Amino acid sequence: MFAVKGLKKTFGNNTVLKSIDMQVDKGKVIAILGPSGSGKTTLLRCLNALEIPDEGIVGFEDHQVDFSQKVKQQSLIQLRRKSGMVFQSYNLFPHRTVLENIMEGPVQVQKRDKKTVREEAIELLDKVGLKDKKDLYPYQLSGGQQQRVGIARALAIKPELMLFDEPTSALDPELIGEVLRVMRDLADEGWTMVVVTHEIKFAQEIADEVIFIDGGVIVEQGAPAEVLSNPKEERTQRFLHRIL
Ligand code: ATP
Repeated sequence: MFAVKGLKKTFGNNTVLKSIDMQVDKGKVIAILGPSGSGKTTLLRCLNALEIPDEGIVGFEDHQVDFSQKVKQQSLIQLRRKSGMVFQSYNLFPHRTVLENIMEGPVQVQKRDKKTVREEAIELLDKVGLKDKKDLYPYQLSGGQQQRVGIARALAIKPELMLFDEPTSALDPELIGEVLRVMRDLADEGWTMVVVTHEIKFAQEIADEVIFIDGGVIVEQGAPAEVLSNPKEERTQRFLHRIL
């Protein structure tokens, strides 16, 4: 349902993504792992054109963008609107309440009815366990709570694909569990998710497929039981040895 073919990205003379092919089937969870600087965040940002690839085809069955050719702005917007992004550093609007943060995309960008969006936003807050915080501002919340708002905000645009960029790596250890719990619920509900993460245990339990990336190429991919418990490639073995 979502696929990437021949994706390349270079910054100056640093080729960060060399030629990435990947497929994300509907309802599946893909975990992307790899050393620092291997291109994980760049890859994720290319999936919704927050970063513009130099080459390659990215898209859904009904909307694909070929970056080897000149791309129309409208086509990029269409691609972006199909996925929700959860950032490492939450990226909430500091001067808007929790509820306003969640309503922003559906009301301002999608021009949807405010009353309906408000009701849905409250339901989403309930889902992430923060209904009672709707009128607070981001600075009044813990990191874990802010990230759960970030997840609710991404869900509010009703995306086909949810992208998570190291969603727990800025959190104190005791707050990581509450965010992973919400993500686990989303996976159980059948959301299609691509998650860049260092949480090996989470990847092991939740992901349908693990992609190990190093030096801008996919070194190894497959079921978590293969890639994480029985890696074939030496680079994967070394990485896992270092972090486990
Ligand atoms: P980490 O786990 O540390 O977040 P990562 O695997 O997500 O690393 P990226 O953030 O994708 O790696 O970075 C890959 C390479 O691309 C790095 O060398 C980085 O310096 C470079 N890079 C990323 N974004 C830019 C940019 N906007 N301009 C120039 N270079 C960039």
